[in-house]
Amino acid sequence: MNIAENLEKIRQTVPNGVTLVAVSKTKPVEDLQAAYDAGQRVFGENHALEMRDKHEALPKDIQWHFIGHLQTNKIKYIIPFVSLIHSVDSPKLLHEINKEATKKGCKVDCLLQFHIATEETKFGLDHDKASAMLRSDDYKAMQNINIVGVMGMATNTDDMALVRSEFRNLKGIFEKLKAEFFADKQDFAQISMGMSGDYPIAIEEGSTLVRVGSAIFGARNYNI
Ligand SMILES: *Cc1c(COP(=O)(O)O)cnc(C)c1O
Repeated sequence: MNIAENLEKIRQTVPNGVTLVAVSKTKPVEDLQAAYDAGQRVFGENHALEMRDKHEALPKDIQWHFIGHLQTNKIKYIIPFVSLIHSVDSPKLLHEINKEATKKGCKVDCLLQFHIATEETKFGLDHDKASAMLRSDDYKAMQNINIVGVMGMATNTDDMALVRSEFRNLKGIFEKLKAEFFADKQDFAQISMGMSGDYPIAIEEGSTLVRVGSAIFGARNYNI
């Protein structure tokens, strides 16, 4: 498994305007350092404490993206250094991120995570819940969060027609929200979709952030 070679191969398939997020969850800092030495600067993690520890151990020009389900009592470990939270899946979480960011005096970029897969286990909002949240007085009073787009995970399946239709659905949700709530907001522009097995399809369907883990770092071993 050569991380630099994997990265080089993947970069050739990711066009300008699409950011490659190297998903390094469960991997040791040596592996992240190898990717860093090969020029990678954007990393994705899904556990707050693991991300904090890696942030402390690694060069400070890395951009850390949080991509997993975020428990409200863990927000404090990743603010203020986190550069984008992909996974805002409830009004309560957004409220708490704003509260913690206010305490630390910073503004946090966030994506709204939508439930687009057929599996019931995946977290995420639907359009109605997101609309209600964006209309709420609570949201309008938040000064320390900045919503810059949407995120979704497709069904884990070999049925690429289904995956494509789910990505298309997320793009549709993005367009609808943009028209309804963010028409004047230039930086509401991000669509985070696509992983190792489906990122080329996601790019065809309009992804601006692909989250690629095992194709860079190899299969994950959850026992260590
Ligand atoms: C683990 C993970 C990925 C990366 O998955 P791979 O299949 O290893 O590329 C992407 N997005 C999220 C939210 C993840 O948890």
